[in-house]
Amino acid sequence: MNLRVMLWCCCLLFAVGCSPRSDDQAGDLLAQLQETGSVRVGVKLDTPPFGFPLAGEPAGFDIDIITSVLARLGIDEVTMVPVTSANRMETLLDGEVDILIASMTITRSRDRLVDFSVPYFQDGQGLLVAADSDITGVADLPQRRVGVSAGSTSLHNVRQVAPQAEMVTVENFAELVQALADGRVEAITTDTTILIGLRRDLPGGADAWRLAGDAFSTEPYGIAMPKNQSNLRAAINDALMAMWEDGDYQMLYDSWFGAHTPYADHVQFGMTPYPQ
Ligand code: GLU
Repeated sequence: MNLRVMLWCCCLLFAVGCSPRSDDQAGDLLAQLQETGSVRVGVKLDTPPFGFPLAGEPAGFDIDIITSVLARLGIDEVTMVPVTSANRMETLLDGEVDILIASMTITRSRDRLVDFSVPYFQDGQGLLVAADSDITGVADLPQRRVGVSAGSTSLHNVRQVAPQAEMVTVENFAELVQALADGRVEAITTDTTILIGLRRDLPGGADAWRLAGDAFSTEPYGIAMPKNQSNLRAAINDALMAMWEDGDYQMLYDSWFGAHTPYADHVQFGMTPYPQ
């Protein structure tokens, strides 16, 4: 091989190696899922009301949303794979699941590694403290011990508003509840809806614990999938918008966050469907 041909080959290899994987190169994941009729979905089991065990089965808002989306895509055989905030990204990147619906905020840094659907929910980060705590909001956090769950946006967000708080990172939301119950931390922080969900599992029940102050971040939730699967992403977005338009979304939303629930005063989400 002469030098010119070798150089040309190197350039070609470099270009192939560096170009983003297209649907063609990776295979069309939507087509594969529809052909087999089965999918592996990463879901939370420690994150009420989005994903938690109910009578031994995964239940929650995320579970209901993805079940409806997948039915609209003609995919009936759904294997729910438990993930945590700490391992969800890796589970998707390693190909152990096909998609994730896991109380997961669409962030720009995550978006570099995976693709997201349009937002299907939005929350804001809050603080949960004992009812008799003197913490009234983020302004009281300096020098206080505050618990967060690994792999979530929460640590970064607290550092923006209360850099002098003493942060204690635990592995998952079950451990976060335990840290507050044991008095190892004075406050725990994550998305407000999740805090309200976790409050039930604390000693003394919901009345012994309260939210302190206003939400201090914006957390748009998206369904995550491998990068550059535009057919899959378009189909998921289309299903979400159809759910919004035909009232299925509202029905699910009301069943989890409606007037009869402890979440009613804290969530107001309206999707932004594309115009017809
Ligand atoms: N929504 C936030 C996040 O994606 C916090 C909740 C969670 O970790 O699942 O990081």
